[in-house]
Amino acid sequence: MSTVIQIAYLVASVLFIIGIKYLGKTKDARRGNILSAVGMLIAIVATMLTIEVVTFLEIFICILIGSVIGLYYATKVPMTKIPEMVALFNGFGGLASFAVGLSDYFLKSSTSLESLDAVNLTSIILSVLIGGVTFTGSMIAYLKLDGKVSGQPITFSGQHLLNLVLLIAFIAASVFVFLDPTNLTLILILVVISLLLGILTVIPIGGADMPVVISLLNSYSGMAACATGFILNNNVLIVAGSLVGASGIILTQIMCKAMNRSLTNVLLGGFGQTVATGGQEGPAVVIKEIGVEETAMLFDSASSVIVVPGYGMAVAQAQHVIRELMEQCEKRNIDFRFAIHPVAGRMPGHMNVLLAEANISYDKLIEMEAINDDFSNTDLVFVVGANDVVNPAARTNPQSPIFGMPILNADKAKTVIVSKRSMGKGYAGIENELFGYPNCLMLFGDAKQTITKVVGEMKEMS
Ligand code: NDP
Repeated sequence: MSTVIQIAYLVASVLFIIGIKYLGKTKDARRGNILSAVGMLIAIVATMLTIEVVTFLEIFICILIGSVIGLYYATKVPMTKIPEMVALFNGFGGLASFAVGLSDYFLKSSTSLESLDAVNLTSIILSVLIGGVTFTGSMIAYLKLDGKVSGQPITFSGQHLLNLVLLIAFIAASVFVFLDPTNLTLILILVVISLLLGILTVIPIGGADMPVVISLLNSYSGMAACATGFILNNNVLIVAGSLVGASGIILTQIMCKAMNRSLTNVLLGGFGQTVATGGQEGPAVVIKEIGVEETAMLFDSASSVIVVPGYGMAVAQAQHVIRELMEQCEKRNIDFRFAIHPVAGRMPGHMNVLLAEANISYDKLIEMEAINDDFSNTDLVFVVGANDVVNPAARTNPQSPIFGMPILNADKAKTVIVSKRSMGKGYAGIENELFGYPNCLMLFGDAKQTITKVVGEMKEMS
């Protein structure tokens, strides 16, 4: 039986790896997800064959409760709230590892103290640390993203020193746990410190830096699961945890690059401070408004168009009507492409998912590095609900919280039309000087409603 289970784990692990590989390309992502899900099913069934303490009925009841809650939220949650859901998932993943680590400790310290060897104790301590940090850190990230606590950085003097002292205290307490594994006070100290560290490392991070935190916490949840795999002696958990940990770190690095943050700063939890100090408002921008008819005329006379989608497109659910706009343009032989910024929207790949949902072919979606030099040769750039990702302050204003973040060069095009409801700010909470540029025109209104009208005008013209 044990050989069968190990082979099942191996198959599941291979499916996870192939699944992750497929996730690298948008067109294969769905297949990748299904393969990984099949791998997880195999892993769960194989693990159930090893159970000793609980019964199938208890497991079934838990699966049922979890599935009902998961199904309810997965169908209810709007696309724009996915980052909050991911933050919660990460947090619960961390909590699960934290709980497994503690329960294993209590089980072994009361029944078989001799099995608490160095490897086991190390795994338990790591599960508690990483799981605890992931849990409270993710809850703070969730509350910040959801607006339940201020998205602004919460800072106080000596913050980093306090974090360092807590980390040293954790290491010291861990050493004492090795010397006296039955000392409950020491375990309690580890628990409190790990939960505190999660809160303290995420509260100073604000606004525009949140995507990096989510991706980092995702990686932490994987590492916590990996440590739990060592506790439970479960190979597939070790593999799955390592995959999540490693892919999360790679994504964190990509996000850091996209937002011009250093990974060392992220790991030290000492970033995002610029949001607190920056954001000086410049002189009020003087804008020029454009109406639906003139917008349709500008599209009609353009020979090349780049659409820059952003968070507002997701809010308005304008992706389907943008596809209609694309069809109208292509009828007129207009070169029509999309420029995708890595942190546009509220989660990595947010724009790709929405545009794919509207059946816009993947080869139309061009990554920032590949398209940024083309803006200067483009007749018309249509910014749909994007703000921070086209804010030239990232290039020009060292005081700006987003200074240094690579942006899409929308401002370099001959004409820019920005579709948004008002002069409302983006996620970073700062003015956008692009809106006042001589080549920029503002098309006010909900993106879906205004673009529907533009498409209507274009249909009448043809
Ligand atoms: P922004 O958040 O900068 O701006 C979105 C704009 O959309 C707003 O200015 C708003 O203006 C407009 N908008 C809102 N609703 C509508 C609507 N119905 N119709 C038209 N416009 C609308 O979006 P970007 O995509 O440019 O930038 C993403 C930001 O989010 C970055 O700062 C990034 O760091 C951050 N972030 C990214 C994450 C990720 O992983 N991608 C995760 C978390 C944060 P108005 O109110 O005037 O309509």
